[in-house]
Amino acid sequence: MRVYDSLVDLIGNTPLVRLHKVSAGLPAQVLAKVEYFNPGGSVKDRIAVRMIEAAEKSGALRPGGVIVEPTSGNTGVGLAIVAQQRGYRCLFVVPDKVAQDKIAVLRAYGAEVVVCPTAVPPDHPDSYYSVSDRLAREVPNAWKPDQYSNPENRESHFHSTGPEIWADTEGGITHFVAGIGTGGTISGTGRYLKEISGGRVRVVGADPEGSVYSGGSGRPYLVEGVGEDIWPATYDTTICDEIIAVSDKDSFTMTRRLAREEGLLVGGSCGMAVVAALQVAARAKEGDTVVVLLPDGGRGYLSKIFNDDWMADYGFLTTSSDEGLVGDVL
Ligand code: PMP
Repeated sequence: MRVYDSLVDLIGNTPLVRLHKVSAGLPAQVLAKVEYFNPGGSVKDRIAVRMIEAAEKSGALRPGGVIVEPTSGNTGVGLAIVAQQRGYRCLFVVPDKVAQDKIAVLRAYGAEVVVCPTAVPPDHPDSYYSVSDRLAREVPNAWKPDQYSNPENRESHFHSTGPEIWADTEGGITHFVAGIGTGGTISGTGRYLKEISGGRVRVVGADPEGSVYSGGSGRPYLVEGVGEDIWPATYDTTICDEIIAVSDKDSFTMTRRLAREEGLLVGGSCGMAVVAALQVAARAKEGDTVVVLLPDGGRGYLSKIFNDDWMADYGFLTTSSDEGLVGDVL
């Protein structure tokens, strides 16, 4: 029988899918690594299982422990799934810009969720960083994975995402493009691809306009899960050859195109990464292979990116449909 003992066994080994319409006419092929095929629906399942297993080994997480983490949702889902299987409680802290649907998902998996204001500096006592620190100190038997500093975050990508991309392209990848949140994805995957290719693979970060990685002061932007107002320890500053800043409008317009033209219902950080990947592919040589990582699915964003009224309120729709924006992004 072909049976998986646990959902945890299904984490990773996500497919590479060629983009067609949005990349038409470009010299390089653009391949999307579609992370919504993970059981929790995002790339973050990878780090969840690795961080928990390392903490069990080190004794930081003991039977009956409580996992406390500031998470925009996806890491929470990954942690919640692994925690359920192993009998831990989850207590998550999220900023209030996170879509309601994502918070509902965390609660559905049995996690407790505390919502904090987005519009305060990181050192403010009500920021989601501060609140999670306080809970981790005060709740008995708490363990904070801290995806922003935990080395297992980028190690998970060094040991899974990177090798998968190398194997699936049979070493043919020339460029890797990904958004930067904690920096775990780009740092771990990028380091693996650079090491195995002898430095040949070019690594390009995609970042929301306004975020520190592309020279901004931190805020504001609406795309979720990427960009920072602090420099996390997880981000290896030596890996990216280039960082491309992308506006919210271009990110969300591309996100909608991916659903409508490629059948990929994905999140806003995916649209952002694809905008950057298409710029890279436009400058690349004939026969180059650009791999872009798409971190999550789009169902958590139906009331925002895929809602015309929400898009129009922010001035992201300039015509009655966004068809008119096709081509704007290059
Ligand atoms: N996109 C989304 C939707 C995310 O939740 C995250 C994780 N914060 C990222 C992109 C960025 O990944 P990383 O933290 O590995 O840089």
